[in-house]
Amino acid sequence: MAIVTLRLPDVKRKTTTRPQKCPYCSGETFQRWGQVSKPVKDNRHRRVQVYRYRCCHCQRTFRYYPEGVGRADQTERLRKLVAVLWVLGMSLRSVKLALSAFNLSLSHMTVWRDLQEQAELIKARRKWQGVRVLGVDGAYPLLKGKKQPTIVAIDLGSGQPMAVGQVDEANPAAVRRFLEPLVQRLGVKVIVTDDLNSYRKVAEQLGVEQQVCQFHVRRWVGVALRELEQTLPAEWLWVLEEVKKLLSELPLEGSQRLFQLWKQVPQKRIGQGGDRSSLEKLRYILIRMSEHWASYRVFDWQKDVPWTNNGTEQAIGRMKMRARTVRGYKSWQGMEAALLLSGSGLSW
Ligand SMILES: [Zn+2]
Repeated sequence: MAIVTLRLPDVKRKTTTRPQKCPYCSGETFQRWGQVSKPVKDNRHRRVQVYRYRCCHCQRTFRYYPEGVGRADQTERLRKLVAVLWVLGMSLRSVKLALSAFNLSLSHMTVWRDLQEQAELIKARRKWQGVRVLGVDGAYPLLKGKKQPTIVAIDLGSGQPMAVGQVDEANPAAVRRFLEPLVQRLGVKVIVTDDLNSYRKVAEQLGVEQQVCQFHVRRWVGVALRELEQTLPAEWLWVLEEVKKLLSELPLEGSQRLFQLWKQVPQKRIGQGGDRSSLEKLRYILIRMSEHWASYRVFDWQKDVPWTNNGTEQAIGRMKMRARTVRGYKSWQGMEAALLLSGSGLSW
């Protein structure tokens, strides 16, 4: 992400346009009713000129602000600048300090509110954006000193976070409550996840394709195969080699082949309720991979689907980096805002 110039909202010292509609009655004719010089907090202007108008229809008067200015002291530009400085890595305290060099004094609370406001703007802007491929993953940031189970949804087209939820990713009902409105509103067709059962279940319920991150699959299968190399009877070691090959090549017919292997490996019990024998462990891996095979290779026939959930992990990485610098989130709202902003980098 190479950003050459930072774009902030424009702020005009005076307006050259006239109001279109009365804020009270929607009347369309006005008389100018004086002007005031409004002091503002901004990185360039100290004051802006604000005209007052009177509505010819309802007789009420109102202020008509120039671009980038509203009722608040801070201009839109400064509010965004505050959030940008924080995303770039400054603490709340450092943001205040940096702005004091421009004779701008902001309270801790104001800086914090600016962050939340920018996060709301991001949320509102992204609300109706179409997202075809959504990456979903869990995270555990600290809220009031405790790990808060959190789920993060990333647009894998743009790499931008779409939503952050107070949800335990292992709980299918909670995952569904979080994902269903997103899937419907954004028009999601594919989710990319790790291979937790909760995601599999919810993808089925919501009728979306699921691509399971192949890093995750390779990790758990790798661990299981290494263990079996030590314990499996020698005459079955060739099966492990074949599983490895299938996993590295992900062929279309992999599911049938794994199913054949599963039937070939004999069922064998040692006592009742005891440990599963290594042959049974092998059978379990074969049948699980066979059943899940389609979700390993959606990327093969849908070219905008990645084969890992790396894009989601990168956004979560950005969130973790920034979230650490805010000590003790006091509310979920505050944390959600911070995660959303930091996960977005400067692309907002
Ligand atoms: Zn009016």
